[in-house]
Amino acid sequence: MRAVGVIPGKREVRLMEHRTPKIAEASHVKIRSLEVGVCGTDREICAFVYGSPPDGFDYLVLGHESLGEVIEVGSGVSQFKPGDLVVPSVRRPCRHAHCLACREDKQDFCYTGDFTERGIKMTHGFLTEFYVDEEKYLTCVPPELRDVAVLVEPLTVAVKGLAQVRRIQQRLPWLDPETPAGQFGAGKNALVLGAGPVGILGAMLLLVNGFKTCVYSRSRAPNPKSELLESIGAKYISCEVETVDQLAERIGNIDLVYEAVGTAKISYDVLRVLGLNGIYVFTGIPAPKPPIGIDADIIMRNLVLKNQVAVGTVNADREAFEGAIRDIGIFLKRWPDELRSLITGRYKIDQYRDLLLGKATGIQNVIALA
Ligand SMILES: [Zn+2]
Ligand SMILES: [Zn+2]
Repeated sequence: MRAVGVIPGKREVRLMEHRTPKIAEASHVKIRSLEVGVCGTDREICAFVYGSPPDGFDYLVLGHESLGEVIEVGSGVSQFKPGDLVVPSVRRPCRHAHCLACREDKQDFCYTGDFTERGIKMTHGFLTEFYVDEEKYLTCVPPELRDVAVLVEPLTVAVKGLAQVRRIQQRLPWLDPETPAGQFGAGKNALVLGAGPVGILGAMLLLVNGFKTCVYSRSRAPNPKSELLESIGAKYISCEVETVDQLAERIGNIDLVYEAVGTAKISYDVLRVLGLNGIYVFTGIPAPKPPIGIDADIIMRNLVLKNQVAVGTVNADREAFEGAIRDIGIFLKRWPDELRSLITGRYKIDQYRDLLLGKATGIQNVIALA
């Protein structure tokens, strides 16, 4: 069958022949790939910044953002049947008995670094016609979410991030006790850095939770991303129009920053203006660059005097996948056109080259396999 992969040893990206996987264990589920999202991570793997083949292979099949359809199940599978739609998670546990996190199915917190990731690190991905996975790494998607469920994986970044925020902010009186359930952001100011798919989906999640939400990104408004964000109730500010200090003055106390931009300079500049009792969630992975200057004294002083927390979050657990599927359903009801407009292009598998190696365009591009 066909697959798109990288051969790091030859620095090649190509459409290749990959052996069709079979169900080999009772817990296995065989899945037909329906849609695979392409993101910055895939583009970086194709630039050979990272990405490694499984043992015994010289290539890695790409793709970690997938929507698939179950076509066959092993004898021990109880949660799925042929025809079900599923989204797979990305990270798989390390094999070390002493890794408490992986032994408890919390491989997003793996202690050893020997985890693998489908389509990224030492396990083939989903950018192929069929794949097999263990039942426990799949989450069921309701049929009405068929055309937007490829956005679930990028949304899990924000869902896990917000779950971390909820836990950490239990350290202080965050909400008025009278606040209605589900309005964790009531009366709070959130700032999202970056207006890519992870940033926009994050802004949607923050809005649904009641945060007053502002998105700070490069391009001047109006542009398609600013228009989309303004239409769902977020404020869009370009960093070419307002400085970080002007932005902070406009917002007031910045209670939460959700960083989805992946560059250190702007991110640390915004950390400098985080508010009292504020929490800052880093999700971006900057490419290595020379050191930069930051206002370290101000940042350190604020972290202490303002009781701030900066937290990094990577990958997502089962709860985050379940939460993201629920939240995509909420977004689809509230903003059907805006949510669908996040998917700016659907391409065939043989158009992989432009998507992975050409200039980045649109918001979220998808390879549709079926
Ligand atoms: Zn991705
Ligand atoms: Zn581990």
